[in-house]
Amino acid sequence: MGKVWVLREPRRGDREWNIYALREAARLKRWFDGVYYSPRLGRLLAVFRPTPGTHVNRLVFEQLDESLLRDAYRMECPEGCNRCCVIHSGAFMIDLEVRQLPDELRGLVERQPREVLRTPGGKVRVYRLDTEPMGRCIFFDVERGRCMLEERLGRSFKPIVCLLTYCTVFATRNGRLYLKRRGRRTRDGRIIMEYVEVDEKTWQRMVERMGSVWRRFRRVYREKMREQQEAPEAGGRRRG
Ligand code: SF4
Ligand code: SF4
Repeated sequence: MGKVWVLREPRRGDREWNIYALREAARLKRWFDGVYYSPRLGRLLAVFRPTPGTHVNRLVFEQLDESLLRDAYRMECPEGCNRCCVIHSGAFMIDLEVRQLPDELRGLVERQPREVLRTPGGKVRVYRLDTEPMGRCIFFDVERGRCMLEERLGRSFKPIVCLLTYCTVFATRNGRLYLKRRGRRTRDGRIIMEYVEVDEKTWQRMVERMGSVWRRFRRVYREKMREQQEAPEAGGRRRG
């Protein structure tokens, strides 16, 4: 078995370092494989598989045996949930990622509030994407429940923070479906999660349940859109 590159764990309370690590990870986005939970290590592993010869920053990445993934659960984000995008998304984009966007999308992001962080690798600009009502991401298509970046440009154009963050409710292993039953963090920082294998129907029921937040939001959003469309008409009638 070969080796894989895994992002080292974030440092608690050290935002500058963590943003630096995310920027380094963003450089390798196109080789991102997925996030796995390793019960053996008690750790979530963000796995990258860069082609040989690719420069990898060893300060933020470590190399692990691929065999560790054998009993690991792969984190999944099934279509139809959208909870992470629709409210309190907390999504943001790092300057390096913004530069890769086509002009009009880059302009949109650059108009969002931003902050500059002095990281170990120099200054990094971080742009907020959660500036729509209730913290919705500017790239979330409420009607269709889709990430516009992914749909239009591909997965590797999504912000690295979106690629790496999972609720950990849904997982797969060897083609089988799992749902998290419980999870906790031990005092020494290990993550202990228990998964149970489920059938397609149970999995789908959970997607429906989780997706209720988005569907409720979409109802309110549609009403608002209707009101906005009707408002000028009403004004016109009054004037007449
Ligand atoms: S809550 Fe989980 S399944 Fe839902 S959008 Fe977030 S990561 Fe995906
Ligand atoms: S960039 Fe895409 S995946 Fe990330 S929060 Fe926005 S809509 Fe969701």
